Amino acid sequence: MDTPTEVLHRVFGYDSFRSGQQEIIDHVVAGGDALVLMPTGGGKSLCYQIPALVRKGVGVVISPLIALMQDQVDALRALGVRAGFLNSTQGFDERQLVESEFLAGELDLLYLAPERLRVDATLRLLGKGDIAVFAIDEAHCVAQWGHDFRPDYLELSKLRELWPEVPRIALTATATPATHAEISSRLGLDQARHFVAGFDRPNIHYRITPKSEPKRQLLDFLRTEHPGDSGIVYCLSRSSVEKIAEFLVEHGIAAVPYHAGLDARTRAHHQARFLREDGLIVVATIAFGMGIDKPDVRFVAHLDLPKSVEGYYQETGRAGRDGLPATAWMAYGLQDVVQHRRMAMEGDDAHRRRQVQHLDAMLALCETVGCRRMMLLDYFGQKGSQPCGNCDTCQTPPESWDGTIPAQKVLSTVLRLLRERRQKFGVGQVVDILLGKKTAKVLQHGHDTLSVFGVGTDLGNAEWHGVVRQLLAQGLLAVESDYGALVLTDDSAAVLRGQREVRLRRDTHRPARAKTSSGT
Ligand code: ADP
Ligand code: ZN
Repeated sequence: MDTPTEVLHRVFGYDSFRSGQQEIIDHVVAGGDALVLMPTGGGKSLCYQIPALVRKGVGVVISPLIALMQDQVDALRALGVRAGFLNSTQGFDERQLVESEFLAGELDLLYLAPERLRVDATLRLLGKGDIAVFAIDEAHCVAQWGHDFRPDYLELSKLRELWPEVPRIALTATATPATHAEISSRLGLDQARHFVAGFDRPNIHYRITPKSEPKRQLLDFLRTEHPGDSGIVYCLSRSSVEKIAEFLVEHGIAAVPYHAGLDARTRAHHQARFLREDGLIVVATIAFGMGIDKPDVRFVAHLDLPKSVEGYYQETGRAGRDGLPATAWMAYGLQDVVQHRRMAMEGDDAHRRRQVQHLDAMLALCETVGCRRMMLLDYFGQKGSQPCGNCDTCQTPPESWDGTIPAQKVLSTVLRLLRERRQKFGVGQVVDILLGKKTAKVLQHGHDTLSVFGVGTDLGNAEWHGVVRQLLAQGLLAVESDYGALVLTDDSAAVLRGQREVRLRRDTHRPARAKTSSGT
């Protein structure tokens, strides 16, 4: 009998397993049940295909993706794997042929549509064969509250009763803990080992940089690190997509826009060009990317903050599918926090809570002084990783500093405006007051007579913006209204009273390039 590694080399022609695959395969080959959480493209198929080939008997794969079965089976046959499928698209003769192959022990893998299991004849057929493993693909379809629920999947609980000795492996890319728990209980997999794997994309270099002049920063990034490369630039709004695409073209970089406001033909055309051409950049909203499988996307750039870590991971994950070095670059600044905090205030209570949780996780990733990859993997439940050495914080560890006093200065300015003047202002005015700037707006409101006027000359304008951004990110300050007026939060008081220390990250700006050298 071949070992899993031999099958990997001989049948599939791959050199080595990807993260997590070997452990999962060994466990199933030994007869254990498994629940596997792996992102799309992570390599789930091998996790059941190899056990099916190594163990005696046929691997039975339950999959709802009927349209893909023919392709999957053809691809396996091309590798010399004896595969077949049974679903409603087949005629009687075709089905008969597959059934007789199954009974004769001439199949390694049998793909089955879930509705087949409602038919007694199918269960009788399976009962007459020798089954190596049951694989339940897209296992989240069993979750009633999920968006992909398929009633036929509930039938799969039968498998354990009918074939208690056959190992079962359920696989999904859907990460929420609630779905995970529901799969486990509905499929009777509480005894199964749970694997979370494949979230690491070691060839992607992660970098999140403070945003000052986003266009110029993007241009610098493209020119110095990715000249002539294909990539995606994500923006939040349609209008910024248009503007950035124009800006790049003006500067001699091949770029096209993509967003839901463009007509279908233009979108299809831009997408096709991106897939076909070398070195084209798509500037897009998140409408772009679903199902795009271009292996040589060398970078994904974010000019606006994604709404969640899931979104960030999915979008950045489009880079470097070919395994070669790729960059996930993001410029992130105070306005992102203000805008997202404001958007997170919309909707009903439950919706707001979810939004705030998502945003907090995203902001924590932006502001971390630790390894970004470790934080990402940890977020997806893949524990125990080490600092990666291939992210900005690993390569240039940011200093953290005691920002308690500057934090108190900001918070007390906000407090005084409210208490003494019954006023709320945005970050610009608050920083001008701290810096003691006698602007027209400061004089008009008499803010030069506040006791905090000019108490912050020890820091510069950019540094104060960094402090305010981090206070917002940490929930020590909040924004209200469309104008981004700053207000205190429940946690502000402890800082003002000196009962809580505030750790801040010192922003590491890359050395700015001389304006004349970029030729613009
Ligand atoms: P998923 O089902 O998790 O979305 P697939 O099983 O379709 O992912 O695998 C995604 C791609 O990665 C496929 O092209 C597959 O052949 C490839 N792949 C999987 N495992 C390996 C490996 N160990 N080495 C190289 N390529 C692999
Ligand atoms: Zn790292």
